[in-house]
Amino acid sequence: MTDHPHAGPGHNSGGCMVCTSTDRDGLVERLAEELWESRQDDPQWARSWADAGELWNIRFRELARTAIGFLERPEVM
Ligand SMILES: [Zn+2]
Repeated sequence: MTDHPHAGPGHNSGGCMVCTSTDRDGLVERLAEELWESRQDDPQWARSWADAGELWNIRFRELARTAIGFLERPEVM
């Protein structure tokens, strides 16, 4: 905890990916894929991120950017 005195429980005693990432597009891509995979719960329709198609890739990257942008806001409590 001493290295990251402000880190909360979700930071695993270190900086999270939002705090520490230096590659924004890479982080967006990783989160977009994670979000996509989390929606592939029906085997009949399940598709990998690579096979999702351009439209879904774009939409889920937008979701990922929104989520990351939200989490980057200063704490308001
Ligand atoms: Zn963080």
